[in-house]
Amino acid sequence: MSVIEQTATKYPAVRNYIGGQFVDTGDCRHVDITNPADGTVISRVPMCGQPEVDRAVDAAQQAQPAWAATPIKERVQVFYRYKSLLEKNIDELASLVSEENGKIRGEAEAEVLKSAELCEFACSLPQIVPGEVLEVSRGVECRVERYPVGVVASITPFNFPNMVANWTIPNAIALGNCMILKPSEQVPLSAGRIAELLREAGLPDGVLNVVHGGVESVEAICDHPGIEAISFVGSTKVAKIVYRRGSHNFKRVLALGGAKNHLIVMPDANPDMTSSNVVASMSGCAGQRCMAASVMVAVGGTDHIIERMVNIVRGMVPGVHLGPVISKEAKQRIESYITEAEEMGAKVLVDGRNYRVPGKENGFYVGPTLIDNVTPDMRVAQEEIFGPVMVIVRSSSVDEAIDIQHRSPYGNAAAVFTESGGVARYVMERASAGMVGVNVGVPVPREPFGFGGWNDSKFGTGDITGRGSIELWTKAKKMTTKWNKEAGVNWMS
Ligand code: NAD
Repeated sequence: MSVIEQTATKYPAVRNYIGGQFVDTGDCRHVDITNPADGTVISRVPMCGQPEVDRAVDAAQQAQPAWAATPIKERVQVFYRYKSLLEKNIDELASLVSEENGKIRGEAEAEVLKSAELCEFACSLPQIVPGEVLEVSRGVECRVERYPVGVVASITPFNFPNMVANWTIPNAIALGNCMILKPSEQVPLSAGRIAELLREAGLPDGVLNVVHGGVESVEAICDHPGIEAISFVGSTKVAKIVYRRGSHNFKRVLALGGAKNHLIVMPDANPDMTSSNVVASMSGCAGQRCMAASVMVAVGGTDHIIERMVNIVRGMVPGVHLGPVISKEAKQRIESYITEAEEMGAKVLVDGRNYRVPGKENGFYVGPTLIDNVTPDMRVAQEEIFGPVMVIVRSSSVDEAIDIQHRSPYGNAAAVFTESGGVARYVMERASAGMVGVNVGVPVPREPFGFGGWNDSKFGTGDITGRGSIELWTKAKKMTTKWNKEAGVNWMS
C-alpha cells in the first residue's frame, strides 16, 4: 500500500522529521492510530524502513560535527528553553498524550512535568561531567575527557509517549550526540510536537530526527553502520532482539525490558498508607507502567489491609480514576489472564472484566482488579500483565516472600511495606531488583539517580536516566601529558 488515504481524522497523517523538516512518507504503508478511550481513529502513521532510516542517519551525520564542537554550556541552553516550552504548552501536550495513549488528564500532565524535570538534569550536566585531572608522576598529568558517541538512536514504547522520549533526548543531545528517535507506532503524535518544540528552543537541524514505524525501522536502526549506540525501552521479548542485533553489529546497546513488580506487605504495615499506595501503584496509568505493582506478597495477617484495598478499588471508576488500556487486543489479553486465574482456583475479589464506560462504549477499559489466593506458579503471578490487575500471593514469612520475588525472571522494582527498619533493610538488601522501595509503591529513583532494573528487565550496563546515562552517551578519552623535559625515562613514562 502506498497511498495515504485522506480520511477525516482529527490529526493529519504523521510524518517523519528529518534535518529540521517534516518530510513526506507517502511511499510507506500507513496504519491507524486509535484513541483508546473511545476507539476512534485520530490519525495514521507511516511504517517506515531502511530508506527512511538512511535519510535520518545522513541528516544526523551532517549535523554531528558542529553539534559535538558546540561547548556543552551552549548545548544545554536549548534544554533550558525547551523545559520552559514543555511547561508553557503543558495543556496541549497532555491532551495529545491522553488522546493517543488514553491516560487520564492528571496522569498525562504528570508525564509532561516529568519530562520537564528530566531537562533539569540535562541542564546540570556541565556541572557533572567536567573531566578529571591528576599529576600521576612528577610533571606527568593524566586527564579524562568525555566525547559524544556520535549518531545514536532511541526506540520507545507506547506507555509514556512524552516522558520516555525525554528520558533519552535531553541527556544524549546535551552530551553532544545527534539522535534518531523511533517512537511506538501506537503513540507517534507526541514525538512530532517534541521535535517542533526543540526546534523552537533553538536545536539545530539534524540533531534530532524522528522516524516512524515498527519492526522494519527498528531492524534498520540495529543494522545501520552509522548508528553508534541504541537505547531501547519496551517489552523483554523485543529488548532481547534489539540487544542481540545491535550488539552483533558492534553498537552500544542499553535495552530496558518488561517487569513483574512485587510488593511485600508485612502485618505491621500502616494499613491506610499501605492500602492506598498499593492500589495507586497497580492502577495508575491503568497498570501500564513498568514500575506498577503486579504481585502483592501478603505476609501473615494482612486481611485488614486487603479489606481496605478492596474498598478503595470498588470506589474507583474507569474513565474517571483510571484510563483505558492501549488496545482491544490488550484488553482481551488482560481479561483472559483474570479468567485463567479464576479457573485455576484463585479468588477474584474485585472484577474489572467487561467494563463499559457510558458514552465511551468503544473504549478499551478494564476496571481495577484484585485477585486473591494466587499461587506463585500461576501464569498470572509469573508473566507481565500490563493492566490494572493485582494478584495477591499469601506467604508465611519474609524469607518465603523474598523467595517468591526471586522466582520472577524480571527485576525492575520491588518494595516492602512495614514499620520495622530491620525488616525494611533485610528486604532491600535481598530483593533481586534494580529499584527497591520501602513504603513506596512506585520506587522510581528521581535524578540524579538513574532508572534501570536488573535481570530480564534490563540488558546492557548503565542506566537510562541520571548519572548512569553519562557512560552510555559518551566515550571517555584518557590523556597523559609530560612537559618537564628534564624528567628521566622509566617504564611508566
Ligand atoms: P514493545 O516491545 O512491543 O515495543 C517497543 C518498541 O519496539 C516500539 O517502538 C515497537 O515499534 C518496537 N517493536 C515491537 N515489536 C518489535 C519487533 N518484533 N522487532 C523490533 N522492534 C519491535 O513494547 P510496548 O508494548 O510498546 O510497551 C510496553 C512494554 O514496555 C512493557 O513490557 C513494559 O514493561 C515495557 N516498558 C519498560 C520500561 C522500563 O523502563 N523497563 C519502561 C516503559 C515500558
